[in-house]
Amino acid sequence: MTPEERLRELAVRHAAFAWLDRQRAAGKETFTQADTSGLALAGETIRLMPTQQGIWKPGQLTAALSFRTVYRPEGSDRPYDDNVGTDGFYRYKMRGSDPNHFENRALREAMLERLPLIWWLGVQGGGYSALYPIYLVGEEQADLQFVVDIDAVPQPDIVWPSVELELDPSYRQQLTKLRLHQRPFRAAVLRAYRTSCAVCSFRHSDLLDAAHIQEDGAGGRPVVTNGLTLCKMHHAAYDKRILGITPDYEVRINAEVLHEVDGPMLRHGIQEFHGKQLMVLPERRTQRPDRLLLEARYQTFLDAS
Ligand SMILES: [Zn+2]
Repeated sequence: MTPEERLRELAVRHAAFAWLDRQRAAGKETFTQADTSGLALAGETIRLMPTQQGIWKPGQLTAALSFRTVYRPEGSDRPYDDNVGTDGFYRYKMRGSDPNHFENRALREAMLERLPLIWWLGVQGGGYSALYPIYLVGEEQADLQFVVDIDAVPQPDIVWPSVELELDPSYRQQLTKLRLHQRPFRAAVLRAYRTSCAVCSFRHSDLLDAAHIQEDGAGGRPVVTNGLTLCKMHHAAYDKRILGITPDYEVRINAEVLHEVDGPMLRHGIQEFHGKQLMVLPERRTQRPDRLLLEARYQTFLDAS
């Protein structure tokens, strides 16, 4: 790759990441083919997602720009859940059985040039969540797979062709701090609840979380039926056992807090929800909270009271 080609690669990638940042800042969590096609980036008209296969190298570039993993339901082979090596790195399968297929060569080129890529992760209910920047840090040809580092800090020897990035060097680190599985989880849960708090229907996505019912540390799975979209306030109250949710989707407030006297936030934000049904639930029954998980979690609320 010539220095000019490398500069082109970096300019396009930088523009693509900045575009994704803006979309995410505007509350967009999942992307489709149509959303990510025909973009004017770094002086090119470019598509960010592969159409047919899993690996995408735009015609204007010499290395792959992105690759994709389709959504697979719980219980089937889930590459982004299960395909983590003992080294903690993820694996991405090569196309077909020939490591020198042109798409595999395009990925290898990104690896050798240490170019950051986008990993599109299929989300339950449709669309893809974007994980970026990620780096390929090795390949295991015998197993026909690349080794993916999703937590990599930007390569120190990359000289980005724009000063914009240097103004905010933390932005890419923030994005990769989230574990791989949490990104699709958040996107899927927010989508199922139409970007609204289940308790109060608050809709500002920056202040919404995808909460686990069975907690992460207790082995809770990152699936929609183990999730609830909650605003920051109700998420914290749920985690502190101030607020409980019964298996019948009814909200309960801890007796002590229920009788506390404070200001309007406590009264309207917490106490008034006691005995109310959840205001927002997924339309699809198969996406609603698992009652057994709710029951187990509700028991921990009762035990804490
Ligand atoms: Zn709320």
